[in-house]
Amino acid sequence: MMEQYIEIKATNPDSLLFYRMGDFYELFFDDAVEASRALGITLTKRGKHLGDDIPMCGVPVHAADDYLQKLIARGFRVAVCEQIEDPAEARKRGAKSVVKRDVVRLVTPGTITEERLLDPSEANYLMTLGRIKGSGQGQFALAWIDISTGTFRVSETDPSRLLADILRVDPRELIVADPVFHDPELRPVFDAIGRSVSPQPPSLFDSATAENRIQRYFDVSTLDGFGQFSRAELAAISGAIAYVEKTQIAERPPLMRPERESEGSSLFIDPATRANLELLRTLSGNRDGSLLKAIDRTVTGGGARLLAERLTSPLTDPIAIAERLDSVSYFLSRQSLADQMREALKGVPDMPRALSRLAVGRGSPRDLGALARGLEVAGEITQRFHSEELPVELASVLEYLDKLPADFAMHLERALADELPLLKRDGGFVRAQYNDELDEMRALRDHSRRIIAGLQADYMEMTGVKSLKIKHNNVLGYFIEVTANNASTMTGTDEAKGKFIHRQTIANAMRFTTTELAELETKIANAAERALSIELRIFDALTNETVANADAIRAGAAALAALDVSVSLAALAEEQGYCRPLVDNSLAFEIVAGRHPVVEQSLRRQAANPFVANDCNLSPQGPGKGAIWLLTGPNMGGKSTFLRQNALIAILAQMGSFVPAGSAHIGVVDRLFSRVGASDDLARGRSTFMVEMVETAAILNQASDHSLVILDEIGRGTATFDGLSIAWAAVEYLHEKNQCRAIFATHFHEMTALSEKLERLSNVTMRVKEWDGDVVFLHEVAKGAADRSYGVQVARLAGLPEAVVNRARDVLHQLEAEETSGKADKLIDDLPLFSVEVKRQPPKQVQGKDSALFAAISAINPDELSPRDALEALYRLKGLATTATS
Ligand code: ATP
Repeated sequence: MMEQYIEIKATNPDSLLFYRMGDFYELFFDDAVEASRALGITLTKRGKHLGDDIPMCGVPVHAADDYLQKLIARGFRVAVCEQIEDPAEARKRGAKSVVKRDVVRLVTPGTITEERLLDPSEANYLMTLGRIKGSGQGQFALAWIDISTGTFRVSETDPSRLLADILRVDPRELIVADPVFHDPELRPVFDAIGRSVSPQPPSLFDSATAENRIQRYFDVSTLDGFGQFSRAELAAISGAIAYVEKTQIAERPPLMRPERESEGSSLFIDPATRANLELLRTLSGNRDGSLLKAIDRTVTGGGARLLAERLTSPLTDPIAIAERLDSVSYFLSRQSLADQMREALKGVPDMPRALSRLAVGRGSPRDLGALARGLEVAGEITQRFHSEELPVELASVLEYLDKLPADFAMHLERALADELPLLKRDGGFVRAQYNDELDEMRALRDHSRRIIAGLQADYMEMTGVKSLKIKHNNVLGYFIEVTANNASTMTGTDEAKGKFIHRQTIANAMRFTTTELAELETKIANAAERALSIELRIFDALTNETVANADAIRAGAAALAALDVSVSLAALAEEQGYCRPLVDNSLAFEIVAGRHPVVEQSLRRQAANPFVANDCNLSPQGPGKGAIWLLTGPNMGGKSTFLRQNALIAILAQMGSFVPAGSAHIGVVDRLFSRVGASDDLARGRSTFMVEMVETAAILNQASDHSLVILDEIGRGTATFDGLSIAWAAVEYLHEKNQCRAIFATHFHEMTALSEKLERLSNVTMRVKEWDGDVVFLHEVAKGAADRSYGVQVARLAGLPEAVVNRARDVLHQLEAEETSGKADKLIDDLPLFSVEVKRQPPKQVQGKDSALFAAISAINPDELSPRDALEALYRLKGLATTATS
């Protein structure tokens, strides 16, 4: 057996091998050590290999899902190896024959379908990266599949936006060809994604055989009906399909045809911005506190997933955005219809996931039940809608709901019982009067059970043992049980002796059988077995019918998800007082009375002071480009909140949601960039300041005149003058080169002087009141510049020791007194703005005492110095340096 194990393990080196032995999956060797640690289960041993004990641990088959969940969450892959023949067959080959086993499935984070392993509100994407070598770095494409729902998308990409595109989809697993994985140019991308990247043989991605593979999978003879794909896209699609085939082995999950996403159709949000704005999760990884959590009022798993998808990929086409907004407006103005829809939607189960499980042979009667219920509710919704005049998006929802297979729905309704078991092998899920033969077998089985109850009464009377019972267990089947002190009665008379056959003696009881009982048992077993096999046949037939209707069911489920999103966004808008934004192709950005959607709700929950609404206007004044607001103000004044709220309002508007504002006019943003907060990336060898500069560089290099940029405190992580200079230059560059709409928050108050020179730059500030030596934050944005940061006061509020606060105050007074007046004005005059060509200054001539130092360094020839000479030279230089700076 160990030989068989070692052979199978050798073909699955990257996965833990779950090796089926009876009612357990056993793990051996290093797998056992790793799994026992990850799962907290006991490590034992079994036999020896090359003289050493073989470590072993095991998990019961019936609880395997729970263990799989833990292992997958910890980043393991699991190969499930089953017995693929009846042990009786193996015995025929000889007493010591090993039962044939093989891996029937690879369980990986991106290919799971089990309800318990999946989060209902999150998609579970498997993504592949296809690359076609060509000029330069070649062409790239990404394909992503959610096996649990059948979604299949593909899109071209390029190295500069690769990480952003991957993070937008947020796959559980990324599959790349080995050579791509080892390409040093792409290394940083894979490092940033981490352990969910899995390198695979390049043959999976072969674009030459891709068409064939795709045709085979979808059982079509040409790809003409699929649309045009580039070679890189074909490679990515082929890789995805090949990986599905590799992991699912015997099964073929029904996937939708790959749908192409064109570049530029969604708002580009770079990885740092996505993380900083805490769209789906906070920076610490929690869902609480994220924008999604704050706006999610959906009531179905499909709706929750669609909402998350829309939030991560807002649109850029004003017409498509308006269509979504029309649906929200529609429900807002029809409250009672919206309430009815919401109630109805609450009954909609996760149809696409149930369908996928059924299609890969992992379905249960409850999955069929879920489809039946879903189809029924869809029918009710359709009827309710029919009398209404609908906006475009909802009309298409209705169209798909109309196409749902009503006859299949009725069939399920007729076939399935009211209460459904979790496992099909438990039987009892087919409704009475659906199948005559089944009814007959069930009657026989139940009748025999009644006869057994009668037998018990007879035997009780015959023996006079009142406590006599007929019981059942899996080892003995039916048996008669009496307590030990009644045992003699059972064999006391000749009649009894002839009737009751002893089966077993246990601690306090004795067990018997009779010929009658044995016969009845066979009848019951036969009838039950027959009934179950009929039920399983019906299950298979219903499953086949489900798969035949897969496309219509999935399209209908997608329509219900879209409906859920519209109704829930209307509920959100109503509950939170959001307004409909006007989104067009202009460069406007005019928010009146805007609020931060997450902070507003959290202040309300804490019953704190209400959120203070603020305006933001970055629209071009007359013909021209968008404006920049330079925001100064005290620490804790609300600068970051204001910056983020405007970015979030743009995202919400473009995803098709109402926004937390009195009114909002937004010219479509093509790319959104933010630089907020301080974090380091020590794993990649980047300090806090380095991360800040890398992010700033990405913005200045990529933002277009249709972009929106929010920058929070650039240049804080270095010396004051370096920081100020960088911040200063960055604002000039944004104004002159990027020419985008931007808000720039800073504590460098000197920068407010820039408004004199940069015509589209305005100064705004967070208002505060000083009262009795303390600051009171008003959280109001007003025109003008702050003169101070009140950092010392805030430090005091934070509980810094009094002595430190007092000392800090003294130091501050001194520093302020020494500050030369007019420094900023001087800066303005000294620094040229970015002209079309940025000229590099020639290196300055070394002058005065510095030149002596310079000459001494030049005179040294390191190759000719003895260690002693070198030390002397060092002392000499040090001496010169001291005189130069003194
Ligand atoms: P720092 O310069 O120290 O980073 P900041 O100016 O960026 O501070 P924020 O972090 O935006 O300040 O805000 C500080 C706190 O003030 C927030 O946690 C929030 O509770 C509150 N706050 C911010 N804006 C508002 C507002 N408009 N209305 C009410 N409370 C607000």
